[in-house]
Amino acid sequence: MEKARILILGGTGDARILAQALAATGAYEILLSLAGRTEKPVSQAVPVRMGGFGGAEGLASFLATGKFDLLIDATHPFATRISKNAGEASKAAGIPALALRRPEWSEELDDRWTHVASIADAIDALGPSPRRAFLAIGRQEAQLAEAKPHHFYLVRSVDPVDPPLALPAVELILDRGPYVVEDEVALLKANRIDAVVTKNSGGSATYAKIVAARALGIEVIMVRRAESVDMQALATVELMLSAVDHLFAPSRKRGV
Ligand code: NAP
Repeated sequence: MEKARILILGGTGDARILAQALAATGAYEILLSLAGRTEKPVSQAVPVRMGGFGGAEGLASFLATGKFDLLIDATHPFATRISKNAGEASKAAGIPALALRRPEWSEELDDRWTHVASIADAIDALGPSPRRAFLAIGRQEAQLAEAKPHHFYLVRSVDPVDPPLALPAVELILDRGPYVVEDEVALLKANRIDAVVTKNSGGSATYAKIVAARALGIEVIMVRRAESVDMQALATVELMLSAVDHLFAPSRKRGV
């Protein structure tokens, strides 16, 4: 029996776990796609390809040429361009598509969140008086902080911000999650942080900073997600595994 071929668009911890779990069933042939942004990507248990496809059209032809049976969008919720391309490409190639979308974090009683629509708005929301802000937003948009150079910024990213930030008061930390609450509390205290700037990524790997800010009574400037692409979405790896199994179970019964 020929194995179903699945292309997973990744770049997240969940994509890595999903790829490994699907491959472990022995029922599918998996290819994991990464954008190639990180200098030292985490090792993966399945075959990997790197780099853009050349828009939705490029992805559609990659799906057709590779005779894929399913596309899974397991990219980060803020990677909106590739998700839009995934929706269009799966339609053009005539194959089903599923999205792995972790639920958003929601505000709890002791949280002090300011809701904004973009990183630029988040930097604006720091206000006119000098603040000590923790930018936990990755490196791609860290440059936007240069619009408000009167704040101190503690910037955490996996790879160095390039070009380096032109800011008078900035400190960089290179690190990759998952993070634990007590370390995040220590980091916020040691740097006398009074605002945490973050995207509403959801999931557990980077939630510790939210818990730490809550414990210390620190404001969180929370960038909300854009509307997600219209695609059947599953919230966890477990739910995605059942959905994929459900999709291919009839053809397995027929021995196709
Ligand atoms: P994006 O703006 O949605 O995508 C920009 C372009 O990068 C896409 O049009 C595509 O190029 C290429 N691309 C993105 N993801 C790809 C993938 N998995 N495989 C092959 N090509 C991909 O994405 P982004 O925000 O720059 O994020 C890049 C990657 O980092 C994503 O895979 C995402 O899962 C991961 N990531 C993003 C964030 C975030 O906050 N944005 C956080 C953590 C991880 P073509 O049009 O040429 O195909």
